[in-house]
Amino acid sequence: MVMGELTQETEVLVIGSGPGGYAAAFRAADLGLDVTMVDMQERPGGECLFRGCIPSKTLLYLSELMHDAERAEPMGLTFERPKIDLNMIRNWKQQVIDSMAMGLMTLSDKRGVQRIKGRAVFEGSDCVRLQGSEVRRIKFSHAILATGSRPLALPDVTFQEKGRVMDSAGALEFPDIPGTLLILGGGYIALELGSVYASLGSRVTLAVRSERLIRGADPDLAAPLVRRVEKIFDRFHYDTEIKALAEDVSGVTVKFDGKTENWEQTFDRVLIAIGRIPNSGDMGLEATKVQTDERGFVVIDDQQRTSDDRIFAIGDVVGGPMLAHKAFREGKVAAEVIAGEPSAFDARAIPAVIFTDPQVAWCGLTEEQARKEKRPVKVERYPWKFSSRATTMGVPEGLTKMIFDPGTGRILGMGITGRHTEGLISEGALAIEMGALAQDMAFTIHPHPTLSETLGEVADIFLGEATHILPKQKKKGPVG
Ligand code: FAD
Repeated sequence: MVMGELTQETEVLVIGSGPGGYAAAFRAADLGLDVTMVDMQERPGGECLFRGCIPSKTLLYLSELMHDAERAEPMGLTFERPKIDLNMIRNWKQQVIDSMAMGLMTLSDKRGVQRIKGRAVFEGSDCVRLQGSEVRRIKFSHAILATGSRPLALPDVTFQEKGRVMDSAGALEFPDIPGTLLILGGGYIALELGSVYASLGSRVTLAVRSERLIRGADPDLAAPLVRRVEKIFDRFHYDTEIKALAEDVSGVTVKFDGKTENWEQTFDRVLIAIGRIPNSGDMGLEATKVQTDERGFVVIDDQQRTSDDRIFAIGDVVGGPMLAHKAFREGKVAAEVIAGEPSAFDARAIPAVIFTDPQVAWCGLTEEQARKEKRPVKVERYPWKFSSRATTMGVPEGLTKMIFDPGTGRILGMGITGRHTEGLISEGALAIEMGALAQDMAFTIHPHPTLSETLGEVADIFLGEATHILPKQKKKGPVG
């Protein structure tokens, strides 16, 4: 209902139209609620569609195609080195984004979700003021905060910005293919974007504060990817801090503080990918009862409720794994709870996937986590050199691993590294969600020859029944 010219009322106000926001808005509309979704951006999709998941995966697919062509050479198929047309690549990326944004707008309109462009700032627990919008205020019965996150800047390093120092969003714009690129950070965004730039011809140096890459994944899973990036990147500096950056028209000079030495080096461009922070500041949360933790993440319960009865929060702004599929689920939960359904976010496994080549994917309990928690587990591995499908594709470096409860054989965690593990991990997530046992995985018939067979085989190893790998110990059976 319109109240006066510039104030509107809605049952559910969703602030932010990224994966969390639009999933929440769509579910709430499907449940019969009157929904308004505001975003500072014109089109729905958020960080994921415009500056994250989708543009990065579009570009990574091109890197993968090039890697496939290289891989085919020893098999007797030699392709010429690809000609790279940056403009066409940018256009392709834009086409992908535009078609998906169009799809989201259609879905939104067909569901009757009202979309408004503007920046929302809370005036109280039932009202936001909109900046940059013709609508001044929106009064709501419930609000869902889905404002996401943004890249973390280098702490304690100030420099005059001249366009050569980029964050992930800047790097995905593809201003050029720099001759030399320094990437700061050792997480998935650093490795994914580094792989894209390296495959297009940049000499990539990676500097990271920690002593290893991808700290969330078990080291044996990360190892094939680490070997690959150590091959395609120029140099690696672990245990290294950045003390200063100086940017001029020709490059960026960086002062490094390493474990054993300090040095200075100039790069054409620098990409900072050291983490992300929640978008919870400057939006008037102090006018509500919403609480944030010491890092700015909004505090919620398992129904996505904040400390303010009327306000829910989902996605990156609440922390945990900052991933689109976690935001999707949380968005649905918030909408369902507002509609009075007995819903809760109770996922046992939130899969993580690094879309490099090889890919690394994991879900549930990791081996490192089990060790830290002193939790007894049985870990079994199936190296892909024993997989017929991996052999046909020339990708023997992969590994499938499962973490079992030693007493019951229940599957607690799974990790998989190699080619196209992005789809394979979902079977592990389902197994964990369903409380599956090793027998369930082993007795499920996996098609041959596929990489999915490695999941059944690893469960077979736990049961001592593996076919394509020798048993650790021969079972003593009854004699005679
Ligand atoms: P966001 O997608 O961040 O959307 C938040 C929205 O809120 C934005 O549109 C913003 O404009 C709007 N907003 C913010 N403040 C306000 C305000 N005050 N008023 C109005 N609107 C506001 N995740 C994956 O699962 N898989 C991947 O492969 C993957 N790859 C990634 C690659 C990169 C390079 C990056 C940066 C991220 C990637 N992510 C990936 C993470 C993923 O993008 C996020 O987890 C996801 O976008 C979070 O969704 P969200 O709905 O919480 O918020």
